[in-house]
Amino acid sequence: MKLFCVFGNPIAHSKSPILHNYVFSKLNIDAIYSRYLLEDDSNFRDLFFSLSLSGANITLPYKESLIKHCDEIRGIAKDIGAINTIIKEDSKLIGYNTDGMGFYQNIINEKISNALIIGAGGSAKAIAIILKQNNIKTSITNRSQKNLEFFKNAGFETYLNNEIPNKNFDIIINATSSSIKKELPISKEKLQNLFINSKITFDLMYGVKCEFLELAKQNNIKTINGAKMLLYQAIFASNLFLNIPINEISKTMQKAYQIIES
Ligand code: NDP
Repeated sequence: MKLFCVFGNPIAHSKSPILHNYVFSKLNIDAIYSRYLLEDDSNFRDLFFSLSLSGANITLPYKESLIKHCDEIRGIAKDIGAINTIIKEDSKLIGYNTDGMGFYQNIINEKISNALIIGAGGSAKAIAIILKQNNIKTSITNRSQKNLEFFKNAGFETYLNNEIPNKNFDIIINATSSSIKKELPISKEKLQNLFINSKITFDLMYGVKCEFLELAKQNNIKTINGAKMLLYQAIFASNLFLNIPINEISKTMQKAYQIIES
């Protein structure tokens, strides 16, 4: 039997086991996926092998710090500097990032030429890099300077929240944790100005009412929350875990997602 899990802190809320175990059961795969509350990442590599895992997902706050325990980082994760999936290949740990692709699936059919990301943490990096790869001109704004350095160095336009220019952004993405605190990520006045010329708003948060998306609805703009981003990143991770065609995983996992949502 193959074993998988998601590492994070906190972890009790994670819906990943439901999604992955549903796929194992429906596709008759002899595997189990569980949650692991990781208090400290210093002995992560030994822990991974002692649990006899074939693969794992990584969530807050370890997406950047666990890179040092991997033997190799592949794909977009190298540019992002953060991983959300680890696969064991022989005795090596290989790190990947499926968050950016998970985000992009939500907007793949939209006509977007430029984007504003609010927030400069790990998820903002994943989104900025995938947008850049898809030729969408992307700017990043944050409440403080330090986390903007990564984006500046990668060639993105960056602003502090009180310096955002009155430009047109087709999509405005809230990649901060403001919705957890029931706050707007930037001032209401600034957002209302930005909404005048935008088509879509996206909040990475899911499962709760987001002040940001509520304000967008009042301004008649299309809103998308983070629920499908979670689903799609899990589909891409499952493809790495099982090496089964993505269409087959996607069909099955979408059903598990509907059960969670209902
Ligand atoms: P990080 O902690 O790495 O970054 C958070 C960013 O938000 C920082 O730039 C921080 O600013 C800014 N910020 C935090 N609180 C506020 C606030 N009240 N107002 C304005 N800015 C704020 O988090 P992540 O990037 O990893 O995650 C961000 C959110 O996205 C989380 O809520 C997470 O749950 C969600 N998420 C959802 C996913 C999904 O699949 N749907 C996947 C990944 C994340 P500063 O730099 O000044 O500290």
